Amino acid sequence: MQPFIYCASASRVIFGSGSVGRAPDEIDRLAAKRVFVIGTPSALGPVSPVLAQLGARVAGIFDRPEPHVPAGLAEEARRTAQALGADACLVIGGGSAIGLGKAVALTSGLPLIVVPTTYAGSEMTSIYGITDGGVKRTGRDPRVLPRTVLYDPTLTMSLPSNLSASSGMNAIAHCVEALYAQDGNPVISLMAEEGIRALAQALPGLVACPNDENARTLALYGAWLAGTSLGSTTMALHHKACHVLGGSFDLPHAEMHSVVLPHAAHYNREAAPGAMNRVARALGSDEGPAGLFELAQRLQLPRSLASLGMPESGLLHAAQQITAAPYPNPAPLSFDGVLALLQAAWSGVAPGTVT
Ligand code: NAD
Repeated sequence: MQPFIYCASASRVIFGSGSVGRAPDEIDRLAAKRVFVIGTPSALGPVSPVLAQLGARVAGIFDRPEPHVPAGLAEEARRTAQALGADACLVIGGGSAIGLGKAVALTSGLPLIVVPTTYAGSEMTSIYGITDGGVKRTGRDPRVLPRTVLYDPTLTMSLPSNLSASSGMNAIAHCVEALYAQDGNPVISLMAEEGIRALAQALPGLVACPNDENARTLALYGAWLAGTSLGSTTMALHHKACHVLGGSFDLPHAEMHSVVLPHAAHYNREAAPGAMNRVARALGSDEGPAGLFELAQRLQLPRSLASLGMPESGLLHAAQQITAAPYPNPAPLSFDGVLALLQAAWSGVAPGTVT
């Protein structure tokens, strides 16, 4: 066994149907008196009884999160929270709302209580991202790690099937890269493998029947494990590729992850055989990369970067950017190898097919 370092997350996690009802108690635990609420509009409706219960302790509601956290919006939200005398921030929604909450926490120090409603996993990480002048700056800071996370599957019921499927594949990507991360460890590998298993088991049923609360619960459990895996390790080639593609071509975040993942896993298959065995075992498949590709097909997700709107002329530029400042990765990065990966992902062929 390789030597390792393991740091447990400092977040308090409360999981289960109806757990959003515990938000007032969790606010009391922080001794907060005025809560600034940041929410994804489509996720706020079911939370209105809790907000009514909080009454005058709700200092204000900010329901305009945007993807990739524009710096101006973050500044506006922080100023609003400050003007309202907020002493805590309650975030309800997907990665965009959580990202905005983190940007507020980063500069104000306000503690965060987060109720995630997608499977993106940001709630379990101390990673933030802010976009300024078209460039997304990311970093890690303990101030943005939520103090409490309330995982309530009932709040994910309204997430449409296609978004649930792509968001779930985004979460699986965190697990796959945690399994071969340079700073991985045996505990996170257990969580990552279990995260893939839970999500792969839940997502097909959930796509067929979005109101299936058992499937929703299992998927959210997998998303928690995936977020923890993401927050505890350093991501590799797959996340670097998605960072470049998302930043340069404004591709939809979760769908792009779903398209690229089987190809990035294929790239690393020989350098990380143990991780691939675990991926395959969790998927109940003979082979990790092929199993990921088949799962995405079963979920009827887009299979090519071309179908997401990426121009073929951008592949060279993307390969250059990925290899110019690579993330640590089990297989050495070569320009030709990364370009071949991108070409396969662009055209939507099965991983390992020469294009
Ligand atoms: P998102 O928050 O933009 O949500 C995607 C869509 O789902 C939106 O249209 C939103 O309105 C809708 N939605 C959310 N919850 C809903 C619900 N309950 N019912 C109906 N619709 C709902 O996107 P996301 O995929 O959740 O997150 C992606 C963002 O998060 C990206 O910017 C990514 O960079 C960031 N992210 C950050 C981290 C981190 O650790 N910092 C980790 C993962 C993702």
